Amino acid sequence: RFSTAAALEEPITPPVKVEYTKLLINGEFVDAASGKTFPTLDPRTGQLIADVAEGDLEDVNRAVAAARKAFDEGPWPRMTAYERSRILLRFADLVEKHADEITALEVWDNGKPYEQAARDEIPLFIRLFRYYAGWADKIHGLTIQADGPHHVQTLHEPIGVAGQIIPWNFPLLMFSWKVGPALACGNTVVLKTAEQTPLSALYVSKLFHEAGLPPGVLNIVSGYGPSAGAALACHMEVDKLSFTGSTETGKIVLGLAAKSNLKSATLELGGKSPFIVCEDANVDEAVELAHAALFYNQGQCCCAGSRTYVHERVYDEFLEKAKTRALQRVVGDPFKKGVEQGPQVDSEQFDKILKYIRSGVENGATLETGGERFGSNGYYVQPTVFSNVQDNMLIAKDEIFGPVQSILKFKEIDEVIQRSNASQFGLAAGVFTQNLDTANRLTRALKAGTVWINCFDVFDAAIPFGGYKMSGHGREKGVYSLNAYLQVKAVVTRLKNPAW
Ligand code: NAD
Repeated sequence: RFSTAAALEEPITPPVKVEYTKLLINGEFVDAASGKTFPTLDPRTGQLIADVAEGDLEDVNRAVAAARKAFDEGPWPRMTAYERSRILLRFADLVEKHADEITALEVWDNGKPYEQAARDEIPLFIRLFRYYAGWADKIHGLTIQADGPHHVQTLHEPIGVAGQIIPWNFPLLMFSWKVGPALACGNTVVLKTAEQTPLSALYVSKLFHEAGLPPGVLNIVSGYGPSAGAALACHMEVDKLSFTGSTETGKIVLGLAAKSNLKSATLELGGKSPFIVCEDANVDEAVELAHAALFYNQGQCCCAGSRTYVHERVYDEFLEKAKTRALQRVVGDPFKKGVEQGPQVDSEQFDKILKYIRSGVENGATLETGGERFGSNGYYVQPTVFSNVQDNMLIAKDEIFGPVQSILKFKEIDEVIQRSNASQFGLAAGVFTQNLDTANRLTRALKAGTVWINCFDVFDAAIPFGGYKMSGHGREKGVYSLNAYLQVKAVVTRLKNPAW
């Protein structure tokens, strides 16, 4: 059962040292004002990696004051856009140079497979910064033909201090989606990392300063949500809030933003994305894609294809093959070659996933494979497949955020559209078909911020990402993200002698 090619022996020693554990405020690594620290743990064992400075209200105040000064007094927003662009490019080069250490740190803190992080996340992180470096000197307003004797133009200006709060599932990618566009537009930043994964952001932020970033432009506060995160969301000197995390916390931070200074907020929240396998699908390909859509990153993806809808005509074959594929999944130490699945990020997520699995069994879904912890150490969960899942079961409604595939049967396209859309979420959807008309019909009808046709999890720097409904507000990546970090000022000048 499950590949034991990577059986859980002694954990491999990560090929990196933890050098940075303090808060980064005004270009300096400093202790928390309270002197407090919190532990960040190795998900392979639950053992301590390092104690990290625990920022709270006072540290957020210090960080925001530094960001405010760097914005109001410069030099960041007053530098030429070309100079800003060059710093972003130099940073990307430094990350590329130190990619091995950065990857190791990310894997150690988060538990994701090293090969996955090295193949996908680190290159995309670098690409994101190069992409936004390219935008920095191409941001400009319009000249507008208005009625009357007026010269009308718009100025696109940075908003000011951006407060950014990120989750633990893709610590570096979330850093890049937020910090890249904010800095390219000339804003300054205070970023709160997730308490589970504080390490990689501190490391790369050190490189940012080596690349020439002025002090105060990027400040990193490690710490917990209800203290440091909430202090940032309701800070009166923060002009823009950008949050990625659960829908539940999204509601809290949006309330804090509204109650304080009504700062605008971008929210990237949860999902329960359908992956629809149509009757004409090549079953082998569909199985592989649906498997990746759900199990990637231990199932800890906001856009995971966590409702696998399969047409009744191919259902039995699909189910048998999906089960076989899950059984072949290589679970093990994420530092080991060939490993596809590491541990979940922490004991809380691990317990939550096992609880959802129990609820699936209790509600009458058929447990085809998996369903238990993997090994006896750390937070590994067996790749799990349920069949006979009904839409009203908790495992089909809630975001499990773990390696649990729920397979549901459908008959008609209209029916699967209706069932796919009957969710509070609307982050993404996958469609697997060779029929162009079916693909077009589903694309238009599905209420989701991304529809992937015959592919899934394609995350190009230029492609916008975000949710419908309770999956969020606004879009990140691509040109769309720039709008979130810019103010538009209309400038109207009376023309004395318009008849030229
Ligand atoms: P979470 O909402 O608990 O935490 C996310 C961040 O918010 C963390 O930094 C946390 O410290 C902070 N936070 C928690 N409570 C807070 C509060 N009261 N005030 C301010 N900040 C607070 O989510 P999580 O469990 O860490 O992450 C998993 C969730 O994130 C999943 O639901 C997933 O779908 C979602 N997610 C969404 C996207 C997306 O792009 N839509 C991406 C990644 C993760």
